[in-house]
Amino acid sequence: MRILIVGGGYVGLYSALRLQRRLKAELKRGAAEIVVVSTDPYMTYQPFLPEAASGAISPRHVVVPLRRVLNRCRLIIGEATSIDHARRTATVSTLASEETGRTEQLTYDELVLAPGSVSRTLPIPGLADHGIGFKTVEEAIGLRNHVIEQMDIASSTRDPAIRDAALTFVFVGGGFAGVEALGELEDMARYAARYYHNVKPGDMRWILVEATDRILPEVGEEMGRYTVTELRRRNIDVRLETRLESCADRVAVLSDGARFPTRTVVWTAGVKPHPILAATDLPLNGRGRLKCTPQLTVDGVTHAWAAGDAAAVPDVTAEEPGRQTAPNAQHAVRQARLLGDNIAHALRGEPLETYAHKYVGSVASLGLHKGVAHVYGRKLKGYAAWFMHRTYHLSRVPTFNRKVRVMAEWTLAGLFKREIVSLGSLEHPRAEFELAAGGKPPGHPKGSS
Ligand SMILES: Cc1cc2nc3c(=O)[nH]c(=O)nc-3n(C[C@H](O)[C@H](O)[C@H](O)COP(=O)(O)OP(=O)(O)OC[C@H]3O[C@@H](n4cnc5c(N)ncnc54)[C@H](O)[C@@H]3O)c2cc1C
Repeated sequence: MRILIVGGGYVGLYSALRLQRRLKAELKRGAAEIVVVSTDPYMTYQPFLPEAASGAISPRHVVVPLRRVLNRCRLIIGEATSIDHARRTATVSTLASEETGRTEQLTYDELVLAPGSVSRTLPIPGLADHGIGFKTVEEAIGLRNHVIEQMDIASSTRDPAIRDAALTFVFVGGGFAGVEALGELEDMARYAARYYHNVKPGDMRWILVEATDRILPEVGEEMGRYTVTELRRRNIDVRLETRLESCADRVAVLSDGARFPTRTVVWTAGVKPHPILAATDLPLNGRGRLKCTPQLTVDGVTHAWAAGDAAAVPDVTAEEPGRQTAPNAQHAVRQARLLGDNIAHALRGEPLETYAHKYVGSVASLGLHKGVAHVYGRKLKGYAAWFMHRTYHLSRVPTFNRKVRVMAEWTLAGLFKREIVSLGSLEHPRAEFELAAGGKPPGHPKGSS
């Protein structure tokens, strides 16, 4: 009996943890095996990415090492490139595949498909070349380094065109990821400016572009309006009912006619299901998500299960019929646990449980000591919401080890000053040595200075 889990994010981690526990006896006597295929050896706690970008949490602490926590599972670092469920076979490309030119064919008895989502982009000129995503820890750290580097560029020139472009930061998309990332980074940059003799907070221009007439729909209309007021109070240019039309030649052109020369366009305008789903023989809905039942099986198929961002799970708590659960961590975690339980039930011939969870609301951080929340009908703003954000996510981040490390970092950050260093050279670790060895000078300041 082999259970194959594709994806090592929220659903992959939590369903594997549940199965490890539920099938302890079967795993011990070799009657069952859990194989997790994940592109990364870690699970990313995405709600902490904005704080990783601002430097409040170090990157290693927003990820959970899968090998350590899934110690009774077999972990394969690689990418499932297609799935033939009729033949119960997944094709997996591993790190070694690049060298051997061969992919692995993995057979299974039960499939859990949890590849999550990817950024939903539009064919906007220049976006593919200049846009920056905000879904992974690498992107969060890259963006932090990039923002500080722009401040360094602005500080090292008197050319107003270069300075203005470097100090203009455009964020597209007013959901969780965009608002929190902008709120945290603006706060960090404002703080960092005190260490620059010629960059003042007022020299920077932070712009949030949102196509609809509201931001942060997750916290409700009233709190969304408060967030707009709060961001504008901080001099952030919030443009509602506005779209990005182009960012070619490093100029952001908006649908309201505004043009901003900029070196930073962060794209957080929603997600779409992972493209791997189209490379399977499983049923998808019109939006490309896997059609699922409220018991988290793939609709009309046996031995296939799904949950999280990739799965269209009927919301049995909704008043209007036909609604599906939203792609967020609140559902992903709860669905993953139930999915693990249901697989164990199915293997033992027991009846399956139904997924029923009513969305309880959300908390969002808008920078240090600033936040907004609407949870269990209670609305909070400012410090109280920020504090709730921290305590809630501290209680949610997986493993005791990570909780202690994050807590320690927050405590130390309260005692010492914020880190404002950019480790941009991490992205070019061989630059120095290549130069020393007489190689081609790379296109990085270290190579050109
Ligand atoms: C910046 C940010 C902040 C957020 N904040 C919140 C929040 O505050 N509250 C909230 O409720 N939600 C939040 N979310 C949303 C939440 O993180 C997602 O809904 C949740 O991660 C979905 O879980 P998942 O398991 O479906 O996907 P993921 O957690 O994304 O996991 C999918 C995993 O599968 C891997 N994978 C993909 N394809 C393959 C393949 N072919 N083979 C092998 N592995 C593959 C991916 O690399 C990834 O590791 C946030 C998201 C972002 C980006």
